Amino acid sequence: MSIEVVNVNKRFGDFVALDNVSVSIPAGRLTALLGPSGGGKSTLLRIIAGLESADSGKVEIEGVDATNLPPQKRNVGFVFQHYAAFKHLSVHRNVAFGLEIRKRPKDEIRERVKELLDLVHLSQFADRLPSQLSGGQRQRMALARALAVQPTVLLLDEPFGALDAKVRKELRDWLRRLHDEVSVTTVFVTHDQEEALEVADEIVVINEGRVEQIGSPDDLYDRPANDFVMRFLGPTT
Ligand code: ADP
Ligand code: MG
Repeated sequence: MSIEVVNVNKRFGDFVALDNVSVSIPAGRLTALLGPSGGGKSTLLRIIAGLESADSGKVEIEGVDATNLPPQKRNVGFVFQHYAAFKHLSVHRNVAFGLEIRKRPKDEIRERVKELLDLVHLSQFADRLPSQLSGGQRQRMALARALAVQPTVLLLDEPFGALDAKVRKELRDWLRRLHDEVSVTTVFVTHDQEEALEVADEIVVINEGRVEQIGSPDDLYDRPANDFVMRFLGPTT
């Protein structure tokens, strides 16, 4: 198991955002955290990333206790919904950034960025500014940037949420293909049932700070654990 979340609790004041959450996220798979808005998905993802600390409980990444490690020591790549690119830097420099601050050799950086831009099909846009890309292209740049430092885990929080339906669908199919190519352990947050069911290998259903069910899309469809899962996955009209 690649990511182990064990008995994690998180409150904001009196509000219980995560109520004793335990989840095993398998290595090398594409896992969705799925559930209605306000259920605690982003909080859980941020705790896995180390951007937020739990009140109690444990996070293990690749067998290492990461509970008290800062984000940069967890070897995770992170992509948010509204990606904040460096507006004054080219696409190439944006992707190179994480390698430059780690003082990697220039040749290595050039080679790696070239590979990544090929991977996300942005090679011909390397010298453009982020503002000269479409929304979908910008999110692909964000993915390349997150992958640049060769993370063991890639975390995405509603990465395509801000895009229109057509681009959204294109990008999610594309995330599936990218994942199959690089096979990095990937966890993405979504409130969109269809998105999770069509793209993910494993789905963790989260509601009101609790895990309702963990399973493959088929498991969830064929054997919903409770009424909540049944209703949430039920036919959307
Ligand atoms: P989701 O991503 O599933 O929509 P979140 O994890 O963002 O849910 O939020 C879960 C709940 O915790 C929400 O009700 C939200 O308002 C609350 N919450 C999240 N972050 C904070 C914070 N920093 N301070 C106070 N409340 C928060
Ligand atoms: Mg969220």
